[in-house]
Order: sequence, then C-alpha cells, then structure tokens
Amino acid sequence: MKKNNLLPNGLDRFSLHRGDKSWVNDKFHDENSRIIPVHHSQVLCDDTIRPKAVYLTRKNLAQTKDLFDSMIFLGVYEETPYFAVDINSDELAENLCHQVNAAFQDLKSLITLLGGQDIELLALARFMSYWHSRNQYCGKCGDKTRISEAGHVRICRNERCNEHYFPSMDPAVIVLVSAKERCLLGRKKIWPEGMYSTIAGFVEPGETVEDAVVREVQEETGVHVENVAYQHSQPWLFPSSLMLGFTAMAKNEEITIDKNELVDARWFTRNEIKADPRLLPYKVSIAYKLITEWLSKGD
Ligand SMILES: [Zn+2]
Repeated sequence: MKKNNLLPNGLDRFSLHRGDKSWVNDKFHDENSRIIPVHHSQVLCDDTIRPKAVYLTRKNLAQTKDLFDSMIFLGVYEETPYFAVDINSDELAENLCHQVNAAFQDLKSLITLLGGQDIELLALARFMSYWHSRNQYCGKCGDKTRISEAGHVRICRNERCNEHYFPSMDPAVIVLVSAKERCLLGRKKIWPEGMYSTIAGFVEPGETVEDAVVREVQEETGVHVENVAYQHSQPWLFPSSLMLGFTAMAKNEEITIDKNELVDARWFTRNEIKADPRLLPYKVSIAYKLITEWLSKGD
C-alpha cells in the first residue's frame, strides 16, 4: 500500500513503549531529542522569507522543569526523538522566542512555505496540544483528568470513575468526481482567490465512507455519483480530520450548489486546470494529489 506521509520514511511512533516511563525518559534525555513547543495553537518558526520550524532542546526549557512531566512523546524520525509540549505562559513563550530568535506563528498560514517534514511534525504537535487542552476534565464525572502513556492517554483522577480518553481523528471523505473528460471542482469563499478543489465532507455516524461520498457530492453539488473507489488517505490535523480520498463517476452533469458550503462548482477539462496555476489546492493536500493523478491519466 502506497503511503501518503509527508515524512519520506515515516515517523516511528514506538506506540508499545509509551507506557514504559524509563524508556520514554531515555528518549527524552537522548542528546538528539527535540521538543516542539505549542503556544495558543501556534508553533515556533524563524521569521525569514522561507520559514523553517525551530525545535527546542531540553536546555531551552531548563528553567521550567515542571513542564517535563507534561511532555508528549511523538516518535522518532531519522534517529531524532521528538516531543511536544504546551506552553501556557505568555512570559515563557516570549522568553523562548527571544532565546532562539523565532516567533510563534499559525501553522496553516505557513503550509505552502514549510517542508513536508516540518508540517507533519508541527501538525502532530499542534493536534496533541489541542486534544489535551480539550480533555482536561472527565466528560463522564466532571473530575480533572491526568496525562498518561507519554501523553497519548488522559485518565480521570477519580479512581471510582477511571475513564480513559484517547486522541482520535474525525473521518472525512474527499472525492475527485469525473464525467467523460471533465472533473468536478468546487470553491469555498474563504479559499485564496481562484482556488478550486475536490468535494469533501465529514462521515456521519452509522454511514459507510462510500455512502458519505455519494451523499456529500449530491448535497453540495446536486451531482449523483457511482463507481466510488478508495485511493489514498491523509491526516489533516486542522484541527483533527482523517481525509479518505476517493474517485467517483458522475451519473448526471447538472450542478446545483449548496450555497452554505460552496460559492461555485464547475466542470473543468484537463487543459483548463493546467492553464491556471492559481486553481490547484495546496501541494501537500490529498486534493492536489487526487487532481494531479486525474490530470496525468489524460497524458
Ligand atoms: Zn471521571
């Protein structure tokens, strides 16, 4: 199965070792280990025209050792162990920026500028910080929760309750619909000018992903589809989607858009797409991959 990781060799998560505190501690004290700080959902990058992610070492956080207990082990990539930590204090955030000559920035606004390795690691760190911030209290009894399994589980502090919480993603479908020599792309108001993309939406409870493809395309564009075929998946942690990519064939070509979701949807030929560089979505996105794969089938 072809993987769609942004990290060429994939992040080794060592998930079976997360419960072994001494193993995780050894990784943390590895001289190569790097820490990704997250402050108000923003990540640390240098402030240049071609920004790069800035990773911290333990020394950068030596004055705040209490943070070491809330470190989240992300995994090992090319022999470097990566951890994430949430920085609540504005004063500490400012101090860190000063130490490493960088700034906390919105990751989504940097997505076209950063490399795939930085995007995947920073998006994971940002997601884990987001998940912890929203699971501080038990949804069953209301007591506080505590961190466990190197940051991959939260457990209710009330021993009689003992509810466990695990990070999870929301499944969403994204689909390249084609009809003869054209494909169906839609446009949302908030996107950069001229950008179009494949149709997407969340899977509803009790629904198969294939059902979700048929329903979403019909709801958003009025087009009925068949021959729904799975292609690839991609985590899209803004904030917590797992995108499941499909192709499908249109049964009708008349478009009626849902104006709450889209401002436009159209059929495009391959030449129309190739002629307009503004049209394609972000290169790191699964939508880009689905569209460019369809383009290449016409060569
Ligand atoms: Zn509880």
